[in-house]
Amino acid sequence: MDIDSDVHDRQKRISGWGQEKITDANVAVVGAGALGNEVVKNLLQLGVQRLTIIDFDTVVKANLNRCVLFTEADAENKTLKAEAMTLAGQKLNPSAAITPIIKNVETLDDKFFANFDAVFGCLDNLGARLHVNANCYNAVPLIDGGTTGFMGKVQVVSKPSACIECAMSKQDYAILWRKYSCTGKQLDIFDPKMPALPTTTSIIAGIQANEFLKIIHSGKFGASLAGRYLFYNGLTAETRIYSVEKREKCPVHQ
Ligand SMILES: [Zn+2]
Repeated sequence: MDIDSDVHDRQKRISGWGQEKITDANVAVVGAGALGNEVVKNLLQLGVQRLTIIDFDTVVKANLNRCVLFTEADAENKTLKAEAMTLAGQKLNPSAAITPIIKNVETLDDKFFANFDAVFGCLDNLGARLHVNANCYNAVPLIDGGTTGFMGKVQVVSKPSACIECAMSKQDYAILWRKYSCTGKQLDIFDPKMPALPTTTSIIAGIQANEFLKIIHSGKFGASLAGRYLFYNGLTAETRIYSVEKREKCPVHQ
């Protein structure tokens, strides 16, 4: 094939690259918000062929500053986010089988998540994040992302690593009903709408997609962030990586 006629020619030039690992992978993206948009865009451009998008919400105009796959018409028509992403995603990668699932993620169990090779957590609240964490732990690697304004985080959970719940304190549990920021930070003032930028969203989703590439290449490109937590500060342009200690009495894997 002519080198300019192969969509994936330039990425295949990376030493050790296995395009078939990407085309064979069955991937789920939980949450069709800002991070979900960017993660799905990245996955489809990379050549993922089997993609499931889970979300029950509809598009609003305030999504459009950071959701590359949504349009003004989607907001006006109150299109379901997962369906809008499926339609736009199909244009990016016409051969991909994209399945929207219009459900609250908290209704999906570990049997559902076991169908996938990787799950992306692109959620905006801790309750849903903990549900996905618990139901993926014994089933599939979870690549979880979150952003708040200029700040972002990525955590990878892959058995037997520490999980998201391992790092939760008693105080965290006590106030779980309150809205948290996407980085898991407790808020002093209740505010359900978090500040969000397209810039931080792209960076964090890019890091999440790179973690997927490392996981499906089975260490060929080095270790994933499994059991660790990457914090990104857009104001200083620094990233820091922290180890997450595995909690002995964590309810997810005792
Ligand atoms: Zn845990």
